[in-house]
Amino acid sequence: MCGIVGYIGKDNAKKVVIDGLAKLEYRGYDSAGIALLDRGNLEIEKIAETEDKKKSKILQLDEMVGDKYKDAKVAIGHTRWATHGAPSVLNAHPHISNDGKVAVVHNGIVENYAELREKLLEKYNIHCKSETDTEVIAQLLSVFCAGGMNPAEAMLEATSMMKGAYAIAAIYEGDETEIVGYRKDAPMIVCHTDEGSFIASDMTAVLKYTKDVYFLEDDEMVICRADSMDIFDRNMNKVQKKAFHVDWSIEAAEKGGYDHFMLKEIHDQPTVLGDTLSRRLTSDGSIKLDGIKLSLEDLNNIDKIYIVACGTAYHAGLIGKHLIEKWAKIPVEVDVASEFRYRDPLVDDRTLFVAVTQSGETLDTLMALREAKSKGARVLSIVNVVGSSIARESDDVFYTWAGPEIAVASTKGYTTQLMCLYLIALHMGLLKGTITDEYAKGIIGELKAVPEKVERLLEKERDIAELAKEIYKKELIFYIGRGLDASVALEGSLKLKEISYINSFAIAAGELKHGTIALMDKDTIVFALATQDELAEKTLSNIVEVAARGAYVVAITKEKNEFFKKESDRVLFIPECFDEVSPLLSIIQLQLIAYFVAKEKGENIDMPRNLAKSVTVE
Ligand code: GLU
Repeated sequence: MCGIVGYIGKDNAKKVVIDGLAKLEYRGYDSAGIALLDRGNLEIEKIAETEDKKKSKILQLDEMVGDKYKDAKVAIGHTRWATHGAPSVLNAHPHISNDGKVAVVHNGIVENYAELREKLLEKYNIHCKSETDTEVIAQLLSVFCAGGMNPAEAMLEATSMMKGAYAIAAIYEGDETEIVGYRKDAPMIVCHTDEGSFIASDMTAVLKYTKDVYFLEDDEMVICRADSMDIFDRNMNKVQKKAFHVDWSIEAAEKGGYDHFMLKEIHDQPTVLGDTLSRRLTSDGSIKLDGIKLSLEDLNNIDKIYIVACGTAYHAGLIGKHLIEKWAKIPVEVDVASEFRYRDPLVDDRTLFVAVTQSGETLDTLMALREAKSKGARVLSIVNVVGSSIARESDDVFYTWAGPEIAVASTKGYTTQLMCLYLIALHMGLLKGTITDEYAKGIIGELKAVPEKVERLLEKERDIAELAKEIYKKELIFYIGRGLDASVALEGSLKLKEISYINSFAIAAGELKHGTIALMDKDTIVFALATQDELAEKTLSNIVEVAARGAYVVAITKEKNEFFKKESDRVLFIPECFDEVSPLLSIIQLQLIAYFVAKEKGENIDMPRNLAKSVTVE
């Protein structure tokens, strides 16, 4: 969500910042802009509504700027995901103070912006021009500097008055020596190389220059200069930090010949699932969890587990609940982070809080984590981005090792989260003695076979592309299933909604007859998941029920269940597997369906409307 890039150094600042913004496009945005210091003059260029909807706005911003400002050595840029005020040129960042002295980019929300606007008006007769919360930051900084403060002092003063979440970068007319950055509850990384200093919302913007980055913590300020970079706390004490080394390659964040990042990431799954698993297996095939120090004694001190997450990660959590309860016999509640944090949950020091998040920056999950921690819970997180806020604030971190996930709709992020949950649940079961070594070995054998089975499913993607042609004009699509299949149904439905904008609904198959079956008619499509041996017959009955109301049924089941062909209009098979691991296979079919339906509809698959990749606002 929103991207910030700042650069000061010997290179062409316009190019560095625009290239960086292009790398952050995947986070989701509606408008963009750049501010540069060109021979000391503060220049601003912004873009919002564009004629060419298909062409990237960053590319259009680049074309708009053209050859101007070639000599600028300082710049800050922004991709905005509007929270306050419509996406328009006026509201796009950078925002500039009325005296034209300060330009600011901001990610997050200044919650008390209305109060600060009033203060600016009453005390300094300053009218804000835009509808954003952000503009007050630029106005405050300029007022404080006019009063004699230096940029760092002004930043500390302004942030002392602000409530909410903010990552900020600011530059000043006439001052080509520094960029000042500040972070509270919104992501910001910084780094310094021979080329200069960089600020960004995430490391994909700087991978081209370095793999060693520093994460700002809350209430830290950075001063970036061409030849140095210093991080300070609020008392202006220098903070010494360890750099995080990232082993992501630049190629991993590129499309590699695929039409879309989403398709590439679907195809990455055999490799990343293999990586996630093999890093945690010893040569004799037993589990060795890096990053998790949970001992038997720790587990005996836990009465219950909360898995807390948002969106796709929440759906992974639902499967995690099933596995942990089955194998480790510990009660698990799964909750949506935005609900958990406000409902005074029953958490204490006998609770294990498990946060699941691809980016590690999801604000709702971060806040839920802090809530649980303050009540004494131990925190374990399942995170993809090394060194992210949630990873840093957890007692135990289990990385998904999915590599950069660029498409907004998560695919490999989800399946690697599942792989981690399998390993954690097995580990807990083994520690507690609630499953045997032999049983665990059986499951591990099945997990090891998953990459090859996913590969086999991907080889048949043309069949799904054909099916997409039949259904892409439909307006209502259901996903049903029982047990683990009900959780996979939720994720399949979300994928479709996210990128194809088709109204879609997932429901436990047995629940249909309690209301929702009223919606079934000849225009309805139903994807019926039936991968659980014990429940397959029951789901088959539900298929018959919806087919009787005229629905077109696509069943997803194991290869051996040929008999589904009789009752369904189409059957998509997954390779034979233990019931427990079927989500890792059935979801591949559903990811492909969502992808090809959206493609058939001509949608912007990697950057769907209204959505952002990492949701860093409430
Ligand atoms: N709240 C700010 C705005 O609406 C920043 C949004 C963002 O993070 O992109 O302009």
